[in-house]
Amino acid sequence: ALHDTLVELRGNIRVYMRPKPLRQSEGGVSVFSHDPYDDTVVSVPMKSRSFQLEKVFSPEATQSEVFGEVSALIQSVLDGRNVCIFAYGQTGSGKTYTMEGSLEDPGVNQRALKLLYEETQSATNMTYEIKASMMEIYNETIRDLLGSEPNERLEVKMKPEGGLHVPGLVSVPVKSLTEINRISKVAQENRVTASTMMNERSSRSHCILCVSVEETNRITGSKSKGRLNLVDLAGSERVSKSQVEGARLKEAQSINRSLSCLGDVINALKNHHPHVPYRNSKLTYLLQESLGGDSKTIMILQASSHPDNLNETLSTLSFGQRVF
Ligand code: ADP
Ligand code: MG
Repeated sequence: ALHDTLVELRGNIRVYMRPKPLRQSEGGVSVFSHDPYDDTVVSVPMKSRSFQLEKVFSPEATQSEVFGEVSALIQSVLDGRNVCIFAYGQTGSGKTYTMEGSLEDPGVNQRALKLLYEETQSATNMTYEIKASMMEIYNETIRDLLGSEPNERLEVKMKPEGGLHVPGLVSVPVKSLTEINRISKVAQENRVTASTMMNERSSRSHCILCVSVEETNRITGSKSKGRLNLVDLAGSERVSKSQVEGARLKEAQSINRSLSCLGDVINALKNHHPHVPYRNSKLTYLLQESLGGDSKTIMILQASSHPDNLNETLSTLSFGQRVF
């Protein structure tokens, strides 16, 4: 109970950090120092900086360990809560590894779908309907990653009866574990096609797996709906105007704007600001009903342990500190 009270006091937004381990071939020494007695602190000794977060994983943390720290929130979705899990960090820092993982060692997305599926199978008094959709936001344009028209632009619209939706977005019932694998594969193929066309586009776009769970009580007939949004954010690296121009500059500016807007929204929510600027980016507008209120959010900061990436690593940790 004390733990729950503390969690309530800390609010519904939690910030974690997962360092990407140095590869053996890279040699060198990690920029991080971990306190063996306190897994809420990470230090960067060469800059004399220390950061306090809710949870700092060790570089050896397994996919299953990371999932263990987010699975409680996935349970909340079954109670009708809305949940967002974000992976934030520079390109190459392990965002996709954490969210998608590999076929042999899946990440949060697949494990979450599997957990939801299994929990709903074993429920006795409730029936559940799980549906998944997958989107990409690139240059403030939303595309359907499960649809047959991946180049069609989708929009977030307000329904006449209230509530936001994305007209035309394909939503696939998740009725088996095979179905879960199929969805992941289709989305991955859609992303790969786009990335060969558009210069590593997958790292320049936000990828959102959106799972809705509708619960019906067999006895009373009452319904509730929870939503889980799993977001692999675009690379957070800063691109200076002197380095790029034209389309690449527009791309970079659009990413910078939408990531800082996400920071603004979380910051406003944490500080109970009367105005939360959801409408300033497609991402926050799309997720408006899953951020704030009684929704729950986990931000997983991904950061490289390599000294060459120190500046980006510090900027990622500073972003995390801002929303902590
Ligand atoms: P991002 O999506 O942030 O651009 P990736 O997830 O693609 O980064 O990771 C870049 C590379 O690092 C990939 O080859 C990935 O397998 C590897 N990698 C990332 N995180 C880890 C980790 N925790 N352990 C081992 N390898 C990792
Ligand atoms: Mg990636």
